[in-house]
Amino acid sequence: MKSDKAEAIFRRFQQANPEPQGELRYKNPFTLLVAVVLSARATDAGVNRATPALFAAADTPEKMTSLGETGLKKFIKTIGLFNSKAKNIIALSKILNEKFGGKVPYDREALESLPGVGRKTANVVLNIAFGEPTIAVDTHVFRVANRTGLAPGKTPHEVEEKLLKIIPQKYLHHAHHWLILHGRYVCTARRPDCPRCLIRDLCAFNEKTVDGLRQKAASSNASRQSARRSNPRR
Ligand code: SF4
Repeated sequence: MKSDKAEAIFRRFQQANPEPQGELRYKNPFTLLVAVVLSARATDAGVNRATPALFAAADTPEKMTSLGETGLKKFIKTIGLFNSKAKNIIALSKILNEKFGGKVPYDREALESLPGVGRKTANVVLNIAFGEPTIAVDTHVFRVANRTGLAPGKTPHEVEEKLLKIIPQKYLHHAHHWLILHGRYVCTARRPDCPRCLIRDLCAFNEKTVDGLRQKAASSNASRQSARRSNPRR
């Protein structure tokens, strides 16, 4: 994609939503880190249902360590993979206490050295807690970047590198939020809402959907016809 098109895409995202926010709830950099670790292969809504009580009980590495793995599991048992997540959160809390003075480090390498923290989680924390212009490529960002032609790539890291090159600097800070929200609510995996999409004319996807109402009418006509064929007396 040419850079002027990328500029136009992000100009529209910014006009539509000047201050996009992530949807995970948190109180400080530590609870943000915990929420992001919990959100792996789980929905933000599911994590948000569990974390208010958890963060009321433990919002620092010290309190989390005191809670212990068994105590933590009681708060997060509704979240997928909670056993391994509890193990990682207690282990990373201990490391934060022992090596980083109980603080979340403002350092990619240090973040990625923590149990359960990969590049994507580090990017989210660096972006939201420290204001770094990083792009966390989750499933939504990966899909939107590929479909639109903005940054096609086979791996999240490849997409991330391309996005960092093509997105104008002034949009980088909010870019991953705009892309996530666009992927979550408009350019969805199974049925992108192309008629309602504000970047439709700039998107390179060959299989854009057509008007939803017309499609709905066409599909109910098709099911009526198929019902008549299977039962001609109706
Ligand atoms: S036009 Fe459709 S495929 Fe392209 S970004 Fe918009 S919703 Fe996604």
